[in-house]
Amino acid sequence: MRPRSPQPAATLRLPPPGALSWLALPTLLAAALLTALPAAAQVSAAARKLHAEALVFDGHVHIGDRQFYQGGSIGDRYPDGQVDLPRIRKGGVDAMMFTVFVREEYYPGRYETKQVLRLIDAALEQIERNRDKIELARNAGDIERITRSGKIAAVLDLEGGFDLDGDLGVLRSLYRLGLRCFQLPAHNWANGFADSCCAPRRWGGLNERGRAVVREANRLGMLINVSHASDETIEQVLEISADPIVATHHGMRAINDIPRNMPDSLMRKIAAKGGVIGIQIGNSFHNPRYHRWRTQHAGKTFWDTSSVRDRVAGLDIYSIDKLIAPHFPFVGPEAPEDVLLSVDEWVDVVDRAIRIAGEDHVALGSDFDGGPTPPRGIRDISDLVLITDAMLRRGYSEERIRKFLGGNLLRVFRQVTEKNR
Ligand SMILES: [Zn+2]
Repeated sequence: MRPRSPQPAATLRLPPPGALSWLALPTLLAAALLTALPAAAQVSAAARKLHAEALVFDGHVHIGDRQFYQGGSIGDRYPDGQVDLPRIRKGGVDAMMFTVFVREEYYPGRYETKQVLRLIDAALEQIERNRDKIELARNAGDIERITRSGKIAAVLDLEGGFDLDGDLGVLRSLYRLGLRCFQLPAHNWANGFADSCCAPRRWGGLNERGRAVVREANRLGMLINVSHASDETIEQVLEISADPIVATHHGMRAINDIPRNMPDSLMRKIAAKGGVIGIQIGNSFHNPRYHRWRTQHAGKTFWDTSSVRDRVAGLDIYSIDKLIAPHFPFVGPEAPEDVLLSVDEWVDVVDRAIRIAGEDHVALGSDFDGGPTPPRGIRDISDLVLITDAMLRRGYSEERIRKFLGGNLLRVFRQVTEKNR
């Protein structure tokens, strides 16, 4: 059988004969072939080896959304989107925050708690259905045991509101179902106890109920995620939490001045408390040029939820499901290539974060299928090795790369989930 070239031959642009010395042709042909290969094919053997051996623990992966709304199995390889178990495996991911996402559409009708329960049920069903490949992890020891057995470890993580009132009984019930990480604010929406980055200020951070939620999470051994929280909320959680906290998928305000990103001062404080900041893979967070392009394209910022109330007025929960089902898999708009960051430029962002927070406090929080438009050359989660390759070329030590890929997040997860043993 004739071997198939990885990309159509049309991408090989050779100069017309006579335009150059024929002696140069073999070199040119080789160069053209190289640029025609997918970026992942050009990764060094050292990077492949390190990436395969390191524990890769991705802090934010939207897996299971599309199956909840459209059916199917996370074990199937999909032609679109950025995430499924075959591609997670190919991307060398050993463990991940299995993120369930309660969108804002469920809040006005107060369906959020029911929606968390439905999503956790769907996540556990998917994990059970693919139990030869993936298993639920409740603590760091579970992650190590599961990855040793050759399976992917899934930590249940909630993006959005578990209950807009912050009922501690609801939080405890979710803990018993296996939830180990959750957001304090209700995504980009104001809840009854903590301010969001991206909704009008309501409490000036946390109110008394919010402080009780933090203390209860500490007592239970649940990881508190401040991604989508306001600066004041983050500041106050840092003051009262007994445990380190995480920002699972974030960007730096020093690079792109948007409320969803974090100022250097708070990054330093999260680090000083032993926590971790996960760097999101998309362009919106780290690339002002792309952010402007996307905002113009959409006619609003990506965190703007001001039209939600009108869109869902009077709808029951099943009608809301139908309304938002077509949004999944949720990937960012395709921008012109020259607007996107290269992988090396994305690693520049990580580098800057490490200079601010230290190499023990910066991690991977990709957010695949949660809306990112990744750097040029990264198609989906299966291309994560490109990051390791770029870090090695930059001269990072293996130790630093291992910390970024998963070591740091595992350390914090252990500290929080195993202190009650
Ligand atoms: Zn998010």
